[in-house]
Amino acid sequence: MRGGGVSVGVGVVVMVVVLAALLPTARPLPDVITIGGLFDEGDEEQKSAFRYAVDHVNRENILGRTKFNTYIEMIPPYDSFLASKKVCQLVGSGVAAIFGPQSGQTSAHVQSICDALEIPHIETRWDYRLRRDDYSVNLYPHPSSLSKAYLDLVRLFEWTSFCILYEDNDGLVRLQELLKTPSPHEFKVSIRQLPQGNNYRELLKEVRSSGEQNIILDCHTEKVGAVLKQAQQIDMMSSYHNYIITSMDLHLIEMEDFKYSGSNITGLRLIDPAREEVVALVETWTEGRVMATNRLSDGDPVLEQRDLSFWTTETALMYDAVKLFVLAMQALDNSTTVTISKLRCEGEEAWVHGNSLINYMKLVRLVGYTGLIQFDSDGFRTDFTMDIIQLGPNNLTKVGTWSRKTGTNYTRTQKETMKDVIQGLHNKTLIVSFAFNDPYIMLKESAAQLTGNERYEGFCIDLLNHIAGILKFKYTLVPVPGNDYGSRNKTTNKWNGMLQELIEKRAEMAITDLTINYEREEAVDFTMPFMNLGISILFKKPQKMAPSLFSFLSPLSLEVWMYMITAYLGVSILLYILARFTPYEWQNPHPCDPEPDTLENQFTILNCLWFAIGSLLQQGSELLPQAVSTRIVAGMWWFFTLIMISSYTANLAAFLTVERMESPIENAEDLANQDKIKYGSLATGTTFAFFRDSSLPTYVRMWNFMKDAKPSVFVKSNKDGVKKVQESKGKYAYLMESTSIEYIIERHCDLTQIGGLLDSKSYGIALRNRSPYTSAISSAILALQETSSIELLKRKWWSDRKGGKRCLTNKEEAGGSSMASELNLSNVGGVFVVLMGGMGLALVVAIGEFLLECWDISRDDQIPLMGVLSNELRFIFKCRGSSKPVRKKASESEVASTGNNIYGSDVYNYSSKNTFT
Ligand code: GLU
Repeated sequence: MRGGGVSVGVGVVVMVVVLAALLPTARPLPDVITIGGLFDEGDEEQKSAFRYAVDHVNRENILGRTKFNTYIEMIPPYDSFLASKKVCQLVGSGVAAIFGPQSGQTSAHVQSICDALEIPHIETRWDYRLRRDDYSVNLYPHPSSLSKAYLDLVRLFEWTSFCILYEDNDGLVRLQELLKTPSPHEFKVSIRQLPQGNNYRELLKEVRSSGEQNIILDCHTEKVGAVLKQAQQIDMMSSYHNYIITSMDLHLIEMEDFKYSGSNITGLRLIDPAREEVVALVETWTEGRVMATNRLSDGDPVLEQRDLSFWTTETALMYDAVKLFVLAMQALDNSTTVTISKLRCEGEEAWVHGNSLINYMKLVRLVGYTGLIQFDSDGFRTDFTMDIIQLGPNNLTKVGTWSRKTGTNYTRTQKETMKDVIQGLHNKTLIVSFAFNDPYIMLKESAAQLTGNERYEGFCIDLLNHIAGILKFKYTLVPVPGNDYGSRNKTTNKWNGMLQELIEKRAEMAITDLTINYEREEAVDFTMPFMNLGISILFKKPQKMAPSLFSFLSPLSLEVWMYMITAYLGVSILLYILARFTPYEWQNPHPCDPEPDTLENQFTILNCLWFAIGSLLQQGSELLPQAVSTRIVAGMWWFFTLIMISSYTANLAAFLTVERMESPIENAEDLANQDKIKYGSLATGTTFAFFRDSSLPTYVRMWNFMKDAKPSVFVKSNKDGVKKVQESKGKYAYLMESTSIEYIIERHCDLTQIGGLLDSKSYGIALRNRSPYTSAISSAILALQETSSIELLKRKWWSDRKGGKRCLTNKEEAGGSSMASELNLSNVGGVFVVLMGGMGLALVVAIGEFLLECWDISRDDQIPLMGVLSNELRFIFKCRGSSKPVRKKASESEVASTGNNIYGSDVYNYSSKNTFT
């Protein structure tokens, strides 16, 4: 045996080393120890493996000069009587242990005899019994562990239903954990037995027609290939089919034909045939077999070429079993003097070391070809790990591990899975179902006779070509019968349209303006969205309105008009008051008379109103203010009028050039609140479903209206909807998706979109439920989105092709200017504020002027200021008359001395600044 060859088989045995150190040195073992081997007739491989393993340990000199000899007997698999006889022969010749046989019936007999004679019995076969006899160990994992592993696999793959195809009852035992599901709703299981013979097609067809795509196949390794081949023949090996195969020797099956089928074939294994040690062992196999043949000349077949076919799980287990036995014997040898006894089946005597040897076997920890070998006290293998393997383009590869403690550990990354899926897609032809709708998919207009996919064009066809280019698959376009998108009948729960095609597996993909919604997402898979949209209203463009008689009022809002009137009155009154306050507005009415008796104020209330309106209308008046305060009022008012009139003029121009369009509806609320205009949607689409399922009061009202409308307001296609809107002359509005509306209104200039979007959703490509291609296609869509290819396609099909950009937008129709709208307070509020500020300033200045004048009078006439103030104010607020007597010096006035009635009479005894003195 070469260096690395079986070195792994020589697992480091912690327990043995410890025991060897602790126990006293014992007397040597006999030179030759015989081990019995019972094998089923025809089971040459097991026999050879046994021999080769014994030969190997002999050459390794594990027990020094002690060598092992084999005593092999072949027995018919079901002949228990003969088996018992052979066991008696073996024990009679003096064996330290008995290996085999593989057959269940005979093994039970062998086990009970070994138990009675206390001879260790070592098995490497599948055994479902829950108890082992005391003198027996079995290296084959217990079916309950395997069963748990299969359950974990089903859970890992999230199967919700599967079919078990089994060959014999052992299969059902192997899968018992799946049959006694913890939660009855976790998955749906159907069970079918493979028929006798080699024809499984009928059974497989039945499974296919049941729609089941997840299969657990439990049969002998030799049959697996045939079952898979026949499954392939009846199209049950597609990317949608998943298999778990319970055979632990999948590496022995020729999988070349299934590698590219796309179906997911998973299995478990205890042995890794690619392991370095195994490869080395195989290389020396021939040599070993030859040596064994030479030494034990009983005619073993000699293998002439390197061949893995012998490397079954049971063969590997046999190697490990022999190694286990030898290590236990070594430990026993270290503890006591071992003698081998010849026993009689009929006798009372048992082997004295049998008990110790079997206990050492249960204590040993050995890393063999089948992983860690360790037993619990009942002789069941514990803590072993199995590889999860999957078939891909690179043959069977390890994708994870399973152990009882940790369950499944799936190490395969999403990326690796995707890589395989993409590789599986290469050159595959997918059936793509579609519904016609402009501009997503349309019939190509051509003088030549077109065939196949060539017949169709549109946004979705281009998109599909891009995706197929990235993922390198081919496709066949098949129009869906009835051109239905797909909606679920709430009573029968059945789908129609493209969704039905996917669910009933007539198509693998569905593409058009297919909206993603919750209900559909539950029935099929959707890729990432390629376009976003919402429901909106398609309606006849509003009619141009004849200008109204009072359209000159339109430039300003009513609010602004009211404010302007208020400002006008306010300014006029303020001017009047300030003009009375300020002494500078009291003028000599006769300039040629230097000493007038009275002074005149031109700003009577009527004059103020006249002055203000004259200014506002940009006409002016003969009145001009003299005082600073009144001039401030006038200046601010002129400024105000300048701004207001300019704004009005500018907006009036816009109003006169833009023809007002008025629509009877502005949004969905308006539609819901009336019943003159009918409205509806596509009969089998998501718009229909949106209104049917909405709980918003407006949409509920709309739905009630639509569903009760007679004749029906629902249409078969968007084209019909558009036609209905055009023909109804404003009596029908069509609820349609915004992207389609966008396309329509670029081509039908009499139509427009009303209001905004009622919801927000997206279009995606639908694939069959749990389709393996979903992620790959989603990634392709993302890539196309990132390179703006989808946006470019949209521009191509919406604007550049087939009469796009034909209609003017509202703005263009309005001659480049946007729709004129009346000016409201937010547009011109500032100028009112400035006006108010100016008025405030004027008031302050007027009060200043007034006080200065009073101060002058009080100083000149030696009259107390308060007296002058109260006299002046009294005069001002009398608000009567626009003339005022000229003030005379006190000495000049006789009456003045009385000081009584100067303001009660028309005699005014103060001079004004404006009088000539
Ligand atoms: N895109 C919709 C669907 O996938 C069809 C159009 C509509 O319902 O307005 O169902």
